[in-house]
Amino acid sequence: MNNSCPNCNSSRITTRNIGRKTGGFIGSVGGATSGATGALSGAELGATLGVTGGPIGIAIGGIAGALIGGLFGGVAGGIAGATVGEQVDTRILNNFQCLRCGHSFTSRSL
Ligand SMILES: [Zn+2]
Repeated sequence: MNNSCPNCNSSRITTRNIGRKTGGFIGSVGGATSGATGALSGAELGATLGVTGGPIGIAIGGIAGALIGGLFGGVAGGIAGATVGEQVDTRILNNFQCLRCGHSFTSRSL
C-alpha cells in the first residue's frame, strides 16, 4: 500500500473496510440461514440413514446433518459476503481515511 492523502499529502492513512465487515456479517447470517435450511434436510437424511441404527442412530444422524449444514453454510456465506464487501470497499466506498486531516478517499492504485 503506497497511498498518501490527496488532501494534505500525509502518508498516515488507514483503511475503513466498512463494506468488508458488513458483507462478512450479512454473508454469515445469510449463509447460516440457508445452511440451517440445508441442515433440516441434512437432519432428515441423517435420520433416514440412521433408522437402521435405531433411535440412537436417528438422533446421531439428525444432529450430525444439522451441524454440518449450519457450519458449512455460515462459513461459506461469510467468505462470500466478505469478498463482495471488499469489492464494494475498493471500488465504490471511500475506503481510505487520512489520520491527519480525516479526509476519505478511494485507492488510486488498484
Ligand atoms: Zn489528509
